[in-house]
Amino acid sequence: MNSENQNPQQVDIPKIFKCDLTGDHFDHCIHCERELLDGSVPYVIEKAIKPYNGYKAYSTIFEYAMCMPCAVGLRSKISKESMENINHYFSTQINFVERAKVTFESENVDDYMKQCLIKNRSIDEVNECQIYAQCQGDKMTLGEFPYMVSGQAMDEVMDLLSQETMDEFNDLKDELIDGPSEFQDLLQGGPRVLI
Ligand SMILES: [Zn+2]
Repeated sequence: MNSENQNPQQVDIPKIFKCDLTGDHFDHCIHCERELLDGSVPYVIEKAIKPYNGYKAYSTIFEYAMCMPCAVGLRSKISKESMENINHYFSTQINFVERAKVTFESENVDDYMKQCLIKNRSIDEVNECQIYAQCQGDKMTLGEFPYMVSGQAMDEVMDLLSQETMDEFNDLKDELIDGPSEFQDLLQGGPRVLI
């Protein structure tokens, strides 16, 4: 019973979720620098991009991979007030029925990514967006991820964050920008939100 839910489908990581800086897989956590391709922990990939003609061409504003333990740790720093606001926003804005059609019925990555998770907007209509994937080793897990959030929806989420949480994110950004030089340019624009 429920074997499908407990053993989510895994696919090869598509090009859009590879590191644009190297053209290869993300291989370490941006925060703790843990090796990611050995498959020992799940990790998330976040990119902010400006798409042109859907995903056929795009420019990257920032990109990184973060191991799940670091992502969970950072999430715990989001203030209670911000978290309540975010949860309320997602629970009222996301069309879970439509989303479930994708996540239960499709094995096509494009279906997960073509519409903003929150706004009913196609990738062809957005100027800027953030995309998220969950991976383990060199495979991407299909289910809740991957998804795309349009810049418009991201701006609304940002408005829900308390000053306390914004300060946490800004501290993190400063910390990451002080890190390996390869990341500095790509991080100037973000990360705006870590989910
Ligand atoms: Zn980490």
